[in-house]
Amino acid sequence: MAYAYDDQNIFAKILRGEIPNNTVLETEHTLAFADIRPQAPTHVLVIPKGAYVTYDHFAAEASDAEIVDFTRAVAKVVEMTGVGADAGPGARFISNAGEHGVQEVPHFHLHVLGGRMLGRMLDPAE
Ligand code: AMP
Repeated sequence: MAYAYDDQNIFAKILRGEIPNNTVLETEHTLAFADIRPQAPTHVLVIPKGAYVTYDHFAAEASDAEIVDFTRAVAKVVEMTGVGADAGPGARFISNAGEHGVQEVPHFHLHVLGGRMLGRMLDPAE
């Protein structure tokens, strides 16, 4: 089934300039900005400018140029924030999708989290 994109979601409004954001990086196809409710000292959201709902939607339907641009932007954000596991203590990259993924905003975004010990990825008791 095809994904339906809701162009009234909050990240679409950010991309249209209708609400402000704290930009970390902007490229041709990608925007990275600070999460408004940071869960770690570094908490940046990286989003494609295109209308994609989830990571798998983006992976399946984005152009090669968009995918390369997005991926390189993630690398740049890691470099800019210093959370890379090469030079520092490391980070986590999360993308929630849909109901079970507890996705709040239906525009694909990658959370880049770092700057503190993040614990296990999932609580095995849940
Ligand atoms: P998710 O649950 O993966 O969809 O995460 C959505 C994220 O978007 C949450 O971490 C929110 O804190 C963040 N968020 C919601 N509204 C804004 C906003 N206006 N600017 C920046 N981050 C936002």
